[in-house]
Amino acid sequence: MKKLLLIGCCLLLFATCKRKAPVHPIDVNVIALQPIGPFDALYFVQGEVGAFFHKPVIIFPPIRMPSGALDTTKGERYSADSILRRPIPVTGDHLPVIVALTEKDIFTTVRDKDGAVKLPAYKYAVWGIFGLGDCPGMASVVSDFRLHTADTAQYHHRIRTIVLHELGHNFGLPHCPNPRCIMNDANEKIATIDKSSDDYCRSCRDQLGLP
Ligand SMILES: [Zn+2]
Ligand SMILES: [Zn+2]
Repeated sequence: MKKLLLIGCCLLLFATCKRKAPVHPIDVNVIALQPIGPFDALYFVQGEVGAFFHKPVIIFPPIRMPSGALDTTKGERYSADSILRRPIPVTGDHLPVIVALTEKDIFTTVRDKDGAVKLPAYKYAVWGIFGLGDCPGMASVVSDFRLHTADTAQYHHRIRTIVLHELGHNFGLPHCPNPRCIMNDANEKIATIDKSSDDYCRSCRDQLGLP
């Protein structure tokens, strides 16, 4: 039993260590989607990500929202940072890059360069977001809570853009000044996402090693 526990701890440690390692699309064998509860656009996201990166995209069984992620300061919001700190499941020989998907509202705490909560604190301590991804790293989380619209094509454009944006961060891309690029900083406005093209700009594609 003790031995089993130790092996479990090592696996966990391995997964935790590996998650911060820089990744590149070429080195990634599989991308995994991790629904947290139901997620209607799951198969749409699977198809789009697979077609874009030409990688297998697997779907993990749904999990529950991690306990402790809930914050009620501004209604029901869940901490994207605590979702990202979950240990990563290991599949076969590979650690996949994981996109967690939730229909719940998620938030992060915006901090200044000294690490203090950006002012005004009431606004930035529980800051609602569309997605958050380690940069570089092995995990991101995307919420469609703020993306809904009666126009299905527009909704699909939004969710696809956010997922590819967060994967771009996982693959080491910072925000891009090109307003049409998927890596443009859309964190504060839905209008930015609606204006985005369907692709990374040439410079970002070069950094990703894409033709
Ligand atoms: Zn970003
Ligand atoms: Zn770009």
